[in-house]
Amino acid sequence: MDNVYLALDDAALAAEVDRLQADVDALAAKGLSLDMARGKPSREQVDLSRSMLDALDSGSCLEDQGQDAANYGVPDGLPSARALMASLMGVPASQVVVAGSSSLNLMFDCVAHGFVRGVRGAKPQCAQGPLRFLCPAPGYDRHFAVTEHFGFENVPVPMTPEGPDMDVVEGLVADPSVKGIWCVPKYQNPCGITYSDETVRRMAALRPAAPDFRVYWDNAYAVHNLYDEGDELLNIFDVLAGEGRDALVYEFASTSKVTFPGSGIAAVAASPADIADLKGSFAVERVCPDKMSQLMHVRSFPDVDAVRAHMARLAEVLRPRFELVERRLSEGLGETGCATWTTPRGGYFVSFEGPEGSASRIVELCRRTGVTLTGAGATWPGDDPRDSNIRIAPSYPTLEELDAALEVFCACARLVSAQLAAE
Ligand code: PLP
Repeated sequence: MDNVYLALDDAALAAEVDRLQADVDALAAKGLSLDMARGKPSREQVDLSRSMLDALDSGSCLEDQGQDAANYGVPDGLPSARALMASLMGVPASQVVVAGSSSLNLMFDCVAHGFVRGVRGAKPQCAQGPLRFLCPAPGYDRHFAVTEHFGFENVPVPMTPEGPDMDVVEGLVADPSVKGIWCVPKYQNPCGITYSDETVRRMAALRPAAPDFRVYWDNAYAVHNLYDEGDELLNIFDVLAGEGRDALVYEFASTSKVTFPGSGIAAVAASPADIADLKGSFAVERVCPDKMSQLMHVRSFPDVDAVRAHMARLAEVLRPRFELVERRLSEGLGETGCATWTTPRGGYFVSFEGPEGSASRIVELCRRTGVTLTGAGATWPGDDPRDSNIRIAPSYPTLEELDAALEVFCACARLVSAQLAAE
C-alpha cells in the first residue's frame, strides 16, 4: 500500500499535519513516562524463576556428578550444566564451556582471544593490520559495540526475511581482513526472523579467505518461542559435520532470558579443536566459573524439557504483549501505508520500518511525548543509512503501559510521516 500522505494535495496535507500534531499534543499533556527501550523481561516473567532460589540451602549437597561446586576447580563448568547447555545448543557436552552469567562476555572473550592471542595459532589479529567484521543489519547493538571496541571496521550486511544476504556475505569473506560475522540465527534481534535452512547451509559452506574467520552464532533465543509451535533452526554443527568441516562456528547461548538476566548461566560451543584453542585463553582469564549458580540452574532444570516447560509459562506472559504490538500497529498505521513491521513468533523484539528519514524524528518525538525507545540507528553499525529502522521492545512494560506507549508511538509515527510528506 502506498503512503497515503503523499497522495494528498498541499492544503489537505497541511490540515492533516495540524490534526496529527493536535493528537500528539493531547498525548503529551498526559505527562506519561513509559519505557520501550530495552529487551528486559518483565517483573512477572522473572518472578516465575523465583523457585530456583530455593534449589539450594545450607543443607544442600554441593556436588554435581562427583564434582565439587563449593570450591575452585571444574573450569569448563559442572557436568550437568554442560550437558544442559549442550542439549539446548544441539552439540556434544565435550564441546561446551559453561562460564559466567553472560554470553556477551563470552563473545567478547572470543573476539579478544583472536585479537590478542590469535585463532588456532594464527598471527594475533591486533598485529594483522586493518580488520573487518560483518554485521547483518538491523542487528544487535551490543554485538557491534564489541567489534568496534577492538577497532574492527563493522561492515553492514543487509538482512532479508531468510537471514543475512548470503550473496553479500559470500562476496565479502573473500577478503582476508574479514574475521567474522555476527549472527542471531533464531528470532533475530531485532527482526524476529529465523534463518532459513538455505541460509544455514550457505553459512556452513563459507570458504573464508582468512583461516581465523569465525561465525559468531549467537543462539540467544534458542528456546524462546511465543507459540507451541516454534520456528525450526537447522543445527549448523550437524551441517558442518556433513561437510566434513572442523572449524568455522562459535555458538553462544545463555539463560539470561530463561531465568534471571545477569544471574543466569552462559555457554560457548565450538568444534573440538576450536574449543581446546579457546580454553587456552579462558584458563588464563579465570580460575573457574560461578558453579553455585550452575548448580541452582541444573537442580531446577534437570533437562531441556524442563526448560521448555518453563519457557511455555514465560510465553504466556510475553505473547499478549507481542499480539498487542501487532494489533496496535495494524490499527494505528496499517491504513497509512507508511510503515512496515515484523510479526515474530518468538524472541524479544519487533523491527519497525518507517519512511526514509523518519526514525530519529519518531524516537525524539516519542521521547518528548513521554515514551523512551531504543535510540534510532542503534540497530545499525554506525548510522542507519535510511534512518528508517526502530527496534520495539515490548517485554518490560505492563500491558496497560505498553498499550499507552504504542498509542504514542503510532501517533508520533503518523505525524512524522505526514510532516516528511509535506517537506
Ligand atoms: N545476544 C542477543 C542477541 C541479545 O539480544 C542479548 C540481550 O538482549 C544478549 C546476547 C545478551 O545475553 P547475555 O545476557 O547472555 O549476555
